[in-house]
Amino acid sequence: LKTDKLTKIYGREENKVEALKDVSISVEKGKFISVIGPSGSGKSTLLHCMAGLDTPTSGKVLLNGENIFDLSDNRLSVLRRRNFGFVFQSFNLIPVIDIYDNITLPVSLDNKSIDKDYISEIIDILGLKDKIKRFPNELSGGQQQRVAIARALSNKPDVIFADEPTGNLDSKTAEEVIKFFRICVEKLGETIVMVTHNEEVAFTTDICITMRDGEILSKRDNGERKK
Ligand code: ADP
Ligand code: ADP
Repeated sequence: LKTDKLTKIYGREENKVEALKDVSISVEKGKFISVIGPSGSGKSTLLHCMAGLDTPTSGKVLLNGENIFDLSDNRLSVLRRRNFGFVFQSFNLIPVIDIYDNITLPVSLDNKSIDKDYISEIIDILGLKDKIKRFPNELSGGQQQRVAIARALSNKPDVIFADEPTGNLDSKTAEEVIKFFRICVEKLGETIVMVTHNEEVAFTTDICITMRDGEILSKRDNGERKK
């Protein structure tokens, strides 16, 4: 996944805000990437544009060499559903269906048959085996976020986008959720792009992108990562 000179301008004239200025970055497959920076620096706008949730004013987002904004709205929404997974600050689980059905919902919505072995594997990896018959309100925040991660994985996405996934969690639970993201990268070869306010969390990812005023200030390879 790459961005090529992504620019996003909100408003016009004296109210104009350049939320992104010519941002070109590449996201290597199988890496855990964090995006940090002060509030208003353009993190969410970058994530939303990369994920095809928001249209840039100019520039491209290339997935496997193809600009996702060359697609029709329909094709783009199919691409989002099939190739991308999403995890947000609020867990957004459906309260009236059990955990198993929450996890497999994206697959069911796509009218695809459920790969039971794969779903069992992700349930196992996320430590949710004894929770699948439960309902969201019976789980703690950290457990609900693990369900949201499993749901994001259910369609075998190319990239998972996470917007402040630990924002609603205490620091101990946050650390645990980040460990599960890490396990997804290591066991499934998943690629994760995560926006976070938390510098400690960012330090545990493979690559840390720092934004300032709509631009990339630095892209740091954390190398041999900390446990
Ligand atoms: P961050 O995620 O780093 O807090 P955002 O991407 O949310 O930053 O915002 C970047 C800039 O764009 C900010 O100045 C913000 O106020 C502005 N912005 C974001 N979304 C909108 C919008 N829908 N309309 C107008 N301005 C926006
Ligand atoms: P964060 O800092 O967590 O990214 P924000 O408070 O910046 O969250 O933005 C929350 C939502 O409000 C986003 O959907 C963003 O697009 C929108 N938003 C942010 N700034 C503005 C703005 N100046 N005008 C209109 N919408 C905005």
